[in-house]
Amino acid sequence: MSRESTGELLSYAQAAACVARRAERLARTKPAAERVRLAAAAGRVLAETLRASSDQPPFARSTRDGYACRAAEISTHRPLTVAGSTRAGEAPSGPLARGVVWEIMTGAPVPRGADAVVMLEHVESAGTAAKPTIRLLPPRTIKEGENIVARGAQARKGDALLPAGTLIGAAQIALGASCGATHLAVYARPRVAILSTGDELVPIATKPKPGQIRNSSSAMLAAMVSAAGGEPWILPIARDTLKSLDAALARAAAADLLLITGGVSAGKFDLVEPALARLGARFHFTGVRIQPGKPLVFAELRRSGTNPNQNPRRPSGPVQNQNGTKCSFGLPGNPISSAVTFLLFAAPILAALAGRIDLGPRFALARLTEDVKTKTGLTRFLPAACTFAGPVPEVACVSWQGSGDLAAMALANCYLIVPEDSGSLEAGATVTILLP
Ligand code: AMP
Ligand code: MG
Repeated sequence: MSRESTGELLSYAQAAACVARRAERLARTKPAAERVRLAAAAGRVLAETLRASSDQPPFARSTRDGYACRAAEISTHRPLTVAGSTRAGEAPSGPLARGVVWEIMTGAPVPRGADAVVMLEHVESAGTAAKPTIRLLPPRTIKEGENIVARGAQARKGDALLPAGTLIGAAQIALGASCGATHLAVYARPRVAILSTGDELVPIATKPKPGQIRNSSSAMLAAMVSAAGGEPWILPIARDTLKSLDAALARAAAADLLLITGGVSAGKFDLVEPALARLGARFHFTGVRIQPGKPLVFAELRRSGTNPNQNPRRPSGPVQNQNGTKCSFGLPGNPISSAVTFLLFAAPILAALAGRIDLGPRFALARLTEDVKTKTGLTRFLPAACTFAGPVPEVACVSWQGSGDLAAMALANCYLIVPEDSGSLEAGATVTILLP
């Protein structure tokens, strides 16, 4: 635990370092593993090394339609007899006799003895139907190995292809399929309680009365949690009263990670920090010099002995014991603040709990297309739109009416970072963006 709550604001770098230290400690304990069907593995985290079930490719494979040959022979440009043909799916033939070539299709095994494949488009056909010939059109020559992927070039049988801790997406599923993995071992997803607080909030299906707004943050965070490998568990909205918060926090005790939104500013009804303190929370920090997201709380709660029957609606799955405490975040209530602080601080903790080896957050460089003017003193994460169409990513801020502007956030695809001491950035500058 770094310190008790003092109300002191950390710099972005200090807060990020604090979270990274905590995430690294959490990452030492791996979650329980379970097996899931390959098709259901997207978004899960691999729990064991994926190894090559055979050499990949399993045979020397042609990457082109053309003629398997010896590079030295075909590069003389003399006509060579086409001695036979292999389609994709046929067994390897050969050995290739001296002075002949072998017709071959993309994906077919290259006959033994051939050391290159010359492309169909690069040859001229002649000879007779009984004795067809081809010759490589001058001045082109070909080198050994061209258009052939050698057996085992990608991996040898038993080689590690993916480490445990990899977030599984389409490419990893394709690789698993190529190894014959009908199922994959994945880590149990950490259950992430999402608790939105605020007297003004109503559930999304409810028509807000004057002064009320819909709870947009719970749905947003649930999507972010799922994308990061966690299992979202949305709790009912808590009111800005001690009683409501205490009851909601008691309910959330079964979670592996707790995300609270709202109620962490300095207002009269911002009661989340005292509610956490009443539960014996130890605070890593209670504010960061960032915009949006300044009144951010990062705390540890004791893990109470949890009765699994206490809340039958909670998602199932093994609860991990992480040093007896549970990371808890009080995210500022405005949705853009909640999103930015989740990406910067909660996502790395969630990634560690999920068993991932890449803990994030993810940054990239881009060229700024318009001047940006802000005041110094806070590191800013401004909603921005980055285009990746050209050779260099280009980014500009989207206009926004503050951190409650959901439409601006929905048009943005990243956050432009303005360092604490910069104040302004000029068009043309290379800038850092935070990726979602
Ligand atoms: P707070 O951090 O509680 O002071 O809230 C800051 C602003 O965010 C207020 O305008 C709230 O109405 C708004 N807000 C808080 N929670 C949510 C939520 N779950 N969904 C949408 N807006 C919210
Ligand atoms: Mg509030």
